[in-house]
Amino acid sequence: MKTRAAVHVQHGQPLAVEEVELADPGPEEVLVKLFASGICHSQLHQLHNPAQATPALLGHEATGVVLAKGREVDHVHEGDHVIVTWVPRDSTEEARPRPTVYRFRGEEQRASGIYTWAEHVLAHEQLVLPLDPDVPVDVTAIIGCAVVTGVGAVLGTAKVQPGQTVAVFGVGGVGINVLAGAKIAQAGRIIAVDLEPSKLDYAREFGATDCIDARDGDPVEAIQELTGGGVDFAFDAIGHEVTMQQIVAATKPGVLGVRRGGTAVLIGIPQGPVTFNARLFTPERSFIGSLGGSSHPIEDYPQYVQWFKEGALPLDKMVTKTYEGLDSINEGVAALERGEIRGRSIMVYDRP
Ligand SMILES: [Zn+2]
Repeated sequence: MKTRAAVHVQHGQPLAVEEVELADPGPEEVLVKLFASGICHSQLHQLHNPAQATPALLGHEATGVVLAKGREVDHVHEGDHVIVTWVPRDSTEEARPRPTVYRFRGEEQRASGIYTWAEHVLAHEQLVLPLDPDVPVDVTAIIGCAVVTGVGAVLGTAKVQPGQTVAVFGVGGVGINVLAGAKIAQAGRIIAVDLEPSKLDYAREFGATDCIDARDGDPVEAIQELTGGGVDFAFDAIGHEVTMQQIVAATKPGVLGVRRGGTAVLIGIPQGPVTFNARLFTPERSFIGSLGGSSHPIEDYPQYVQWFKEGALPLDKMVTKTYEGLDSINEGVAALERGEIRGRSIMVYDRP
């Protein structure tokens, strides 16, 4: 079938919203008509990377409805509302998502992962999960990346326990989900750090108990003062060389023979090598990475939807900007680049 997609044709050029042609679903594939998609910082990294292969289809969190499926797909059916995500739902070593194929300007191309900046997607079945038909299909589009990455980092990767202390560096779309996850985990103190005062005010809506404006001085010292030495877990939702050091220094040092130090959790994706002061690790601090919140979407996504219904995961407050239609993509990308988006922005293509 023919659809429209925002194609990254050439580095440094705006995305081209053009016709692409999708094949009928193979045995393990699902054809989804998309309702809405999020606009995530990862795509900015792809757009800014001169080594990114082109043409490329981008976007990796969405909702939609199943139009057709391959014969081996039995967890979703025609007419089902679904979440489309980059995190495999139940992957094993043998059943990794495989690329799907599309035609663009007359040539066959392989979509290396998922794509959601398109009106339809041909997706591998691992990247499509059922969505409760009773929930809105717009704000739930951010479950497939922002929510799973942020909430998952707290509950799946770090496994924060009630009463433990948490700091989050960078309270954008993922950072506010770290805050919400820390609140769900009943963390004792939840500290938000950012350079943007309006983001810090907004962070309080998701459970931040303390906010630190990193322009006002050293945020590590401020955290040490607030917590009497450092937090149990410090999350970096940015992945910058400076914040990667700060999350280590902001965790509490261990006490030899009594307890280990705190844990720094890297969520944001560094865009190059980083030089570290390794002395920071000496007092038994740990540094771990989190990708896709260490999640198991088959169980976690229904839980996120349930928390959304109960108000614990206020997706409607997290989505602060809604664009109508795929043609707004370049406007949406530019606004995110300019730092104008608090929380997450989405594009809505259609509503059920
Ligand atoms: Zn993302």
